[in-house]
Amino acid sequence: MSNESPIKTVNPTTNKVEKIYDEMTMAQIDVLFAKADSAYQSWKKTSFSQRAQVLHKAAAILRERKQSLAKLCTIEMGKLLGEAVGEVELCADIFDYYASEGAKLLADKEISVKHGKAFLTYDSIGVLLTVQPWNFPFYQITRTAAANIMAGNTVVLKHASNVPQCAEIMEKILREAGAPEGVYTNLFISGSKVSELVTDPRVKGASLTGSKPAGASFASAAASCVKKSTLELGGSDPFIVLADADLDLAVKTAALGRLYNAGQVCVSPKRIIVLQSVADQFIEKAKSLYQNIVVGDPLDPKTQLAPLSSEKAAQTVIKQVELAVSEGAKLVLGGKRLDREGAFMQPTILTGITPNMKAYFEEIFGPVLCIYVVQNIDEAIKLANATEFGLGGSVFGKDEKEAINVARQIVTGMVYINHTTGIAPELPFGGTKASGYGREQADAGIHEFVNAKLIRVTKPDAAY
Ligand code: NAP
Repeated sequence: MSNESPIKTVNPTTNKVEKIYDEMTMAQIDVLFAKADSAYQSWKKTSFSQRAQVLHKAAAILRERKQSLAKLCTIEMGKLLGEAVGEVELCADIFDYYASEGAKLLADKEISVKHGKAFLTYDSIGVLLTVQPWNFPFYQITRTAAANIMAGNTVVLKHASNVPQCAEIMEKILREAGAPEGVYTNLFISGSKVSELVTDPRVKGASLTGSKPAGASFASAAASCVKKSTLELGGSDPFIVLADADLDLAVKTAALGRLYNAGQVCVSPKRIIVLQSVADQFIEKAKSLYQNIVVGDPLDPKTQLAPLSSEKAAQTVIKQVELAVSEGAKLVLGGKRLDREGAFMQPTILTGITPNMKAYFEEIFGPVLCIYVVQNIDEAIKLANATEFGLGGSVFGKDEKEAINVARQIVTGMVYINHTTGIAPELPFGGTKASGYGREQADAGIHEFVNAKLIRVTKPDAAY
């Protein structure tokens, strides 16, 4: 086992290496692709109910082992144990959702025509290569795997290099649930080498969740050989607080939402936008909330803020904060490392970020609450859209009609009213602009990598 291998578990609570895996060679990967391709030839012929049986069983295993799986998640990337348990439960729900709904979602769809008959039928396409990030080690895998296994595709996963044990265990769970060899395969390979795999002729579709540079490289490789790709990339979600909002509730939702998963969520409320009239109160309330946050061991149920996922991640976020302050932003609270081992930083509040600072445009992937102050709602909407990203967003206020009106003007893939951007199996998830394209989960998710084939029954002398 090589110490140089990038595929390893480094516990961010201690920064100690726990387990190292050898990176796979291209020859090993070739064998795995051959197995995935051959498994596809028979998996595509299985019935929906056979596939559903595997997915329901996988869901049951996840629920039964949620504590041990959650602990593994916490050890590999540092999230709070309670959050990890919630993540495993969500995965079980997603497996069950596609097992129960998949046949309906992929049933033939009749098209109304003047004569004869026309309908769409949804064919599986083959091996899907999927690349996923570490921030939700099980959930990220599940949302593509469940939909595509149900659709009759086979899935080859390249997970983030820092969560190899979670990656490996999901393959074991799916095999135990009855998925034949090759239906779901884990690859141990570093990110820099994965884009070249997309051009393999056995790969028929490509899906990546991660950063914009990784997405651009991966999707370019897919486009070079005319393969469909979906991209779920970064976000800089606005959280707009309307004038009629319950301020305490808005502060609590935004501030605690920003600390969830130590702020390492694509749809974390990354830009809180408040009106001048309530700005001072909002900032004071957020400050007193953050002053009492317990930062520490993510396995301890009293802990409210976990470490970041790695030493490098902690250093990156702290440098982003320092740069913003050096450019003129105001550090209301935090911004420093904790004086202990591990990738810990203080909950942080920044205000006064302006367009001449890098922080205005960058995604900050950590527990940093950035509060922006505006004069009116038009300015709030303009600011919400002043980003290359377009993933999620929130509008907080009592008047539902007014909140929906504001939501309609936000250019993102999802807007939640009175909640941070959320996740549920039956709700489509995805973005626009530099946050990517395509959707996961729900009806939309299972239709991404199927061929919607038209079958038309007509007469030779008909006009069409
Ligand atoms: P990242 O560096 O892009 O890594 C994500 C995945 O891509 C990892 O498996 C990584 O492998 C791989 N990768 C790295 N470079 C690659 C390349 N050139 N070609 C193909 N694959 C490559 O992302 P990250 O910074 O760790 O993850 C956080 C980002 O993901 C944030 O921007 C976050 O907002 C975004 N995200 C988006 C969603 C969404 O649904 N929209 C969900 C979660 C996270 P290695 O680990 O081996 O480098």
